[in-house]
Amino acid sequence: MTEILGPGGPLPPVPDDLTLVQFMLDERHVSRPIVPPPYTWLIEDATGRKIALDEIRNRVFGLANSLRFRWKLEEEDVVCIFSPNHVDYPVAIWALHRLGAIVTTSNPSFTANELEYQLSITKARAIITHPFSLSVALEAAHKVGISSEFIVLFDDTSVTGARQFPNLSDLVIEGLRMSPTFIERRLRRGEGKTKLAFLSLSSGTTGRPKAVCIPHHSPIANVIQMAHRANSQPQPLASRPYRPGDIGMALLPFYHIYGLVVVMHFAIFYGMTLVVIPKFNFVDMLKSIERHRINYIPVVPPIVVLLCKHPAVKQYDLSSLRAMKSGAAPLTAEIIKQLSETLPAMSIGQSYGMTETCTTVTFPQVEQKIGTPGSAGRLLPGVVARVIDPDGKLLGYGQPGQLVVKSPGNALHYLNNEQATSETFVDGWVYTGDEVIINEQAEVFVVDRIKELMKVKGYQVAPAELEGHLLDHPDVSDVCVVGIPDEYSGEAPLAFVVPTASAIERMKSEPSEGGRIKAALMKHVADVKVNYKHLAGGVEFVETIPKNPSGKLLRRFLRDHAKQLQADG
Ligand code: AMP
Repeated sequence: MTEILGPGGPLPPVPDDLTLVQFMLDERHVSRPIVPPPYTWLIEDATGRKIALDEIRNRVFGLANSLRFRWKLEEEDVVCIFSPNHVDYPVAIWALHRLGAIVTTSNPSFTANELEYQLSITKARAIITHPFSLSVALEAAHKVGISSEFIVLFDDTSVTGARQFPNLSDLVIEGLRMSPTFIERRLRRGEGKTKLAFLSLSSGTTGRPKAVCIPHHSPIANVIQMAHRANSQPQPLASRPYRPGDIGMALLPFYHIYGLVVVMHFAIFYGMTLVVIPKFNFVDMLKSIERHRINYIPVVPPIVVLLCKHPAVKQYDLSSLRAMKSGAAPLTAEIIKQLSETLPAMSIGQSYGMTETCTTVTFPQVEQKIGTPGSAGRLLPGVVARVIDPDGKLLGYGQPGQLVVKSPGNALHYLNNEQATSETFVDGWVYTGDEVIINEQAEVFVVDRIKELMKVKGYQVAPAELEGHLLDHPDVSDVCVVGIPDEYSGEAPLAFVVPTASAIERMKSEPSEGGRIKAALMKHVADVKVNYKHLAGGVEFVETIPKNPSGKLLRRFLRDHAKQLQADG
């Protein structure tokens, strides 16, 4: 086998002279379905407020005009969006893109310590946040020297301290009243491939989270790839799982690349109406599916597990659901089978992708109701895949090896990190760090993860981040964090810790000291890290951390050891 092409090509032309906002609001690409008016783009879940293209265009203009006036944003300035999903989230992104600014999206549950890290590596100048995230935003902003006039809120609420900050709707009104203060950022031919749209965090194959440099061309290409596959569904329109005019659910967070590109941009581009859900709560999700008659729902595996097992599922009318797509982490064939028994009319598939490939390189098998068991989807048109062994030798169909992909969506490099860039981005190819098998139908089966990364509920957890923090604790002399399997979360972080000599002495003289130290280490992490990074898998004491002669942690060995400990109960 040489290289495997995603079937269904060639891809329609991908514009490289448009910004993402121009592609979404101003142009009509050939692969974009026409949806007859009245066509609502976004619905706010709580209020039912409907927003259509004209209103979005106006809001984007008003906000861009006001932000240019207030913040004097310049080309390449970075602005952080630190908020739960909100109907104005796309408005904020697109307004910033009209100005030529770069957007970095951040998890609204981050602690000040985590946000500070993101703001400093991306050198963000301003923050658009939500009243509920404001206190964390202010603490992090203060630490990196962003002053309060560079903070704007999505909503005006009664949260203490929120009233002193301008909210986005006021800025829109202000910007619409003023004469234009900015000249829209336009791109020369080819510039879309280098002009950055996003800096998204990912830890890649090793080390702490890094900022992935994503140009405008990447999300545009990925949206066209998905639309092209969806347009080629063989069924007649009335029995297709993915249809323009459908109601989709934006439940997954927009700050993650999956929510940003696959949920927000693809669904809107494909002519769906997106119901925007700010915070995940399972029963509320069921209520919203029933209330809005949701047809399409992109999810992550823990939501599928709940749909199979939660007793409340039977109390709601979910008959409107027609297509579900799971991504960001593995989903077993067994769970898909169970779900298809619970919701037999719904088509269920997976897609596989990563921040570095912005975003998805596979799409569900649109002609099959539940895809091939275990498949993470079929390669998208425009993707070229290689499967290689540890020496870089090309492998054949059905042989497990590392997936290496060239896709028009591929990001460029990591920001200011040549070492990590040279390991992942090589001549336009992305080395995924995932072990896969690809069959002759171009279906991808994810077998294992070669890279360090853990995925907890679909979120990235970088072992190096937790290890660095644990090493700051006075009782820790060495540490290695690995993921252990967890039915709901996918994985749970477990820390193997070599205690310091003084901790060992204390444990010898006081039997309960070991338990106290373990609890203290878990608290040490919980105090400064978002909840999915907590050591839910526990802490285990070991005498040494196995390393190879050059000092590299033998993580795989400890992962197997952890699985053994788990099996022994
Ligand atoms: P992220 O950059 O956060 O999207 O994480 C990308 C990583 O998530 C991939 O390299 C895989 O390890 C994992 N991943 C994404 N989609 C899937 C999937 N469908 N099945 C298994 N693992 C997945």
